[in-house]
Amino acid sequence: MLVVTRRRTSRLSIRIAKNGDVRVSVPYRTTNDEVGEFLERHREWIEQAQKKTAERQQTRKAFYAQLPLQTRAQWADARARLDAIVRPLIDHYAPLMGVEPATIYYRANISRWGCCYTDRRAICLSLYLLLLPAWCIEHIVVHELAHLLVPNHGADFYALMDRFFPRWKEARTETRRISRMEE
Ligand SMILES: [Zn+2]
Repeated sequence: MLVVTRRRTSRLSIRIAKNGDVRVSVPYRTTNDEVGEFLERHREWIEQAQKKTAERQQTRKAFYAQLPLQTRAQWADARARLDAIVRPLIDHYAPLMGVEPATIYYRANISRWGCCYTDRRAICLSLYLLLLPAWCIEHIVVHELAHLLVPNHGADFYALMDRFFPRWKEARTETRRISRMEE
């Protein structure tokens, strides 16, 4: 599908959305003919980019499909398995870091590995962490615990990571590589 947006810009630009849509943004005064010509000139680039996007989406889908979560039993099993990994990590790191998470809960989240609600000291973790190696799970857990001390990703936050999980950068790269979440 083609989506043309007219906006305050001085140039025409193209972007391929995750679903393969071609999104073109153009200056207000651009005519449809001009848009058509522009697309024609970039046809090859568009086809390549769409192909690459489709491949990336396939890889991503295949990655998450490794952990089926359609039934209640699958969900309960995944939750129990992840909890068995996460609990000891929390027990180890929370006192070390001087934090006390009030709630840990799990979600079948594919867009984020974890999140932290500092106001209620809640941490949520994606069940898909089960698809990562143990040290990458550990990294995510430490990352979310660190958010209880520093909510943003500023220098103070990474100082904490350096202190409590020095291999954080490596773990982040590895996690992105495995799940092909990088854009
Ligand atoms: Zn974060």
